[in-house]
Amino acid sequence: MTGATAPYPSAVPVGVDPTRASIARVYDAALNGKDNYEIDRQVLAQVRTVAPQVNDLAWANRDFLIRSCRFLAIQAGIDQFLDLGSGLPTAENTHQVVQRVNPEAKVLYVDNDPVVLAHGRALLEENERTHFVAADIFQPDEILGHPEIRDFLDFERPIAILHVGTWHHYLGDDGGDKMAAYVDAVVPGSYVTIAHFFDPETPEHSELARKMEDKFVHSPMGSGKFRTREQIQALFPGLEMVEPGLVLCDDWWPDGPRLQPLNLVRQCIVGGVGRKP
Ligand code: SAM
Repeated sequence: MTGATAPYPSAVPVGVDPTRASIARVYDAALNGKDNYEIDRQVLAQVRTVAPQVNDLAWANRDFLIRSCRFLAIQAGIDQFLDLGSGLPTAENTHQVVQRVNPEAKVLYVDNDPVVLAHGRALLEENERTHFVAADIFQPDEILGHPEIRDFLDFERPIAILHVGTWHHYLGDDGGDKMAAYVDAVVPGSYVTIAHFFDPETPEHSELARKMEDKFVHSPMGSGKFRTREQIQALFPGLEMVEPGLVLCDDWWPDGPRLQPLNLVRQCIVGGVGRKP
């Protein structure tokens, strides 16, 4: 599906409209993946006119996902992961990160993108401890009542709920209530991990965040909201934040010393991990 022109018709999975951009494919393009179409790359090209380093949003998000999963598997001893909005398979998927630490760890992936369903599923369901379900991650009742999810994960034991790089694609204001439904369904000692496009509320950052949001929302992808710290913190209802709290993704336990300052784009995405007391 890669290349400068539109895909060959035969390369398009059934049910996929190559004239409409998809969140999963735009994200794949930003991570230099190959499962994207011209229309997806055009979304990034448009955002690049106001934010040349837009790909850094995706990289900061993905690297945070990997580091936080490592923490959950090693330090928190979590062995059940509900990965909401899995995205297309890429270099280090959740199950590869956590099963390297604990081969018995189980990962349940959820996504609703037809390309993820068409060929990502096979790669993500690599062994019997990984499973994929097609459902709407912004409908907690649907997810929490889903028979395959209830069968695969043990809700009597701690679960890590990953909602990484997803909520900025939800345009409503009731995300906190929806997250409360997820948190209510899991036992104490469970965790929630979220990364989200961020408006740091300084004149310089807010201007950039507004410009990027305008390009994303008015693109064929149609979403990409930059929320404030207060709005994003509300997505962790009743949870104790793991140190250092909700911070720039790059500042959440970085792998090593930083030799270069973070560019402005990297200052527009935050992540955090909360624990149910
Ligand atoms: N979580 C991965 C990560 O952080 O690397 C992928 C993030 S990607 C930016 C967001 C994913 O959420 C996409 O794969 C998209 O298809 C999925 N998604 C968006 N809205 C969804 C919905 N309503 N139901 C299920 N999946 C959704």
